[in-house]
Amino acid sequence: MGLSEIQARIAKACAEAGRSTDEVHLIAVSKVQPPERIAAVLEQDHRLFGENRVQEAAGKWPDFRARFDGVSVHLIGPLQTNKARQAFDLFEAIHSVDRPKLAKTIARLAQDEGGCPDLFIQVNTGEEPQKAGILPGDADAFIQECRAMDLPLRGLMCIPPVDETPSLHFALLGKIAARNGLNGLSMGMSSDFEQAIAFGATHIRVGSAIFGERVSPSG
Ligand SMILES: *Cc1c(COP(=O)(O)O)cnc(C)c1O
Repeated sequence: MGLSEIQARIAKACAEAGRSTDEVHLIAVSKVQPPERIAAVLEQDHRLFGENRVQEAAGKWPDFRARFDGVSVHLIGPLQTNKARQAFDLFEAIHSVDRPKLAKTIARLAQDEGGCPDLFIQVNTGEEPQKAGILPGDADAFIQECRAMDLPLRGLMCIPPVDETPSLHFALLGKIAARNGLNGLSMGMSSDFEQAIAFGATHIRVGSAIFGERVSPSG
């Protein structure tokens, strides 16, 4: 596989869903990938990437940003409050806002810095104890809480349980977003991004299908 094949599959899925490809942003998930594979994707003019660890992103993206214009990197993995300030410097968007304490820290930083990355609230649609994310039953209240703090909410994000039909989770995420007036839906990975597009995904997070298998898996 590779970037152009994924772009073709996105175009086909959009056509089948009656959607414009402009509505679907492809986040190339570059975690753990060797720098030469990332450079190869940048050289094909792709500019939107995803990382799941603050430290790892800090180690490689400043260099790539110096070499390539218009790079945008989204944090798709968990964020500790003590790394939030660093995350402001590294990412154009954070997809893992999942608890009041983190939201409050981000709100304080946004005031200090006079700006804030775009934010997605992560919803634990499968209610898995080991997984991050606000529970579906708490999502409406948490969204309101974030809005009351003037946070720039772009939408919702989910990672469906591995052993369940992802569509059910995509549909649930879409429903929570719609009833809260949110447009962004960060959902869909290498194995299910076409279904996610059918269910309204605006940001799909695709790693191994673009870059090849990760050498050592990270999250
Ligand atoms: C690693 C990761 C992805 C990409 O996974 P692939 O199966 O390689 O496409 C997407 N979302 C999150 C949150 C991830 O951690």
